[in-house]
Amino acid sequence: MEIVRPQNLAGVFDALELSPDALLLAGGTDSMVLVNAGALRPDNVISLRNVKELKIWDGGFIGAGVTYARLEHSDVAALAELSRTVGSPQIRAVGTLGGNLGTASPAGDALPFLAAVDAAVELVSGSGSRVMAWDEFLTGPKKNALEPGELILGAHLPDVVPERTAFAKIGVRQAMVISIASVCVTRDRAGITTVAMGAVGPTVLRARGAEEMISGEAAPSEAALDEFQRLVSEEARPITDHRSTEEYRRMAVGVLARRALERCLA
Ligand SMILES: Cc1cc2nc3c(=O)[nH]c(=O)nc-3n(C[C@H](O)[C@H](O)[C@H](O)COP(=O)(O)OP(=O)(O)OC[C@H]3O[C@@H](n4cnc5c(N)ncnc54)[C@H](O)[C@@H]3O)c2cc1C
Repeated sequence: MEIVRPQNLAGVFDALELSPDALLLAGGTDSMVLVNAGALRPDNVISLRNVKELKIWDGGFIGAGVTYARLEHSDVAALAELSRTVGSPQIRAVGTLGGNLGTASPAGDALPFLAAVDAAVELVSGSGSRVMAWDEFLTGPKKNALEPGELILGAHLPDVVPERTAFAKIGVRQAMVISIASVCVTRDRAGITTVAMGAVGPTVLRARGAEEMISGEAAPSEAALDEFQRLVSEEARPITDHRSTEEYRRMAVGVLARRALERCLA
């Protein structure tokens, strides 16, 4: 196995030209699991760990190489919260936002946040860059719009992120766990609310009906919160798998969304 460690994007593109099928390795917390299991045997690896452009985080832009250990210190509540829930300190020290986007698992914990704030994903290649909405980038379970020769530069957040944001997830235990269901809820000063759900559909999903209903409530009553919870559950598209059942996921995502909204309202 050949490993190259470029220091900048130009070096990555040079390496990709020589080995278009090389594995792009960021923190390796997804890829190395596959390598260890024998499911992935790359001949060539391009390490992204030292690529300085991918480490940029300037508030509105989060580079693909920014780790959860850094994102834990975000002043956007949901981003800090989700980052604190990922794996263990060792995983958070190397695991990156770009890796979560690259894997594109429906259970990726950074993805509901990106969906709830309507983030855009920037891709770069030797011939230029393109920016696309999160739901154009995430095309299916573990599928995304990356083309050969491209890499994820990072995510662009909107100019104004809603003041109140909250993330919640549930798994089979408190820590070191893949989400059975997750949510990110945002609410701005005007009451406009967004809800993104993870692990309850083929990709991260927005609960548009629930958003519309609760955005019209200036001070939601218990009855309104009940209805919001019901709509979120109704809009989920979960499956039964080795981690949980469809029924449990549908129920759980409604409860999580209600709790996250209550935190935004507090
Ligand atoms: C013990 C353990 C616990 C975990 N817990 C969680 C959890 O709680 N929540 C969660 O969401 N995930 C969890 N994960 C999964 C993993 O940590 C995350 O998905 C993480 O974001 C992956 O980032 P990485 O930098 O390690 O990606 P890597 O493994 O390096 O890469 C993953 C994929 O993305 C591609 N990629 C990476 N960067 C780029 C780029 N810039 N451009 C193009 N493609 C790129 C790679 O080629 C690869 O296909 C866990 C993993 C382990 C092993």
